[in-house]
Amino acid sequence: MNERVHTVIIGGGQAGLAMSYYLTQQGQEHIILEQAARVAHVWCDERWDSFTLVSPNWSIRMPGAEYQGEAPDGFLHREEIVSILNNTCSVSGCQFATMHESRR
Ligand SMILES: Cc1cc2nc3c(=O)[nH]c(=O)nc-3n(C[C@H](O)[C@H](O)[C@H](O)COP(=O)(O)OP(=O)(O)OC[C@H]3O[C@@H](n4cnc5c(N)ncnc54)[C@H](O)[C@@H]3O)c2cc1C
Repeated sequence: MNERVHTVIIGGGQAGLAMSYYLTQQGQEHIILEQAARVAHVWCDERWDSFTLVSPNWSIRMPGAEYQGEAPDGFLHREEIVSILNNTCSVSGCQFATMHESRR
């Protein structure tokens, strides 16, 4: 099936999700192509269970999901990072297609 989309974002990591957020704000049609089974894949599948960020919570500035908790000097656990990224995705209503590896 051939489909034309104005803008294609390759990868549903934090960079791709942030880009999607801002394009949505501007009303720009776009889609995220993610090779894995879900967005935020590296945090879901490539970090260990006890993983915590080494960057403090106050530095989390994902658009639409900025950290607003009570521990700005704390460090998020893996599940919390995934939740923030998924929030960014749901706030922006991003369109994505998983299991789509982009090739030249
Ligand atoms: C062990 C470890 C610990 C870290 N700890 C921290 C930390 O404490 N604080 C911090 O700020 N950063 C940390 N980082 C860095 C952080 O993970 C990266 O900076 C961040 O994930 C980069 O986001 P990104 O969206 O650019 O890329 P990624 O998160 O890597 O996302 C890229 C996405 O693109 C997809 N993709 C790639 N190629 C294709 C393709 N051809 N077609 C379709 N999809 C594709 C991938 O599957 C992936 O989902 C850590 C990294 C590692 C490895």
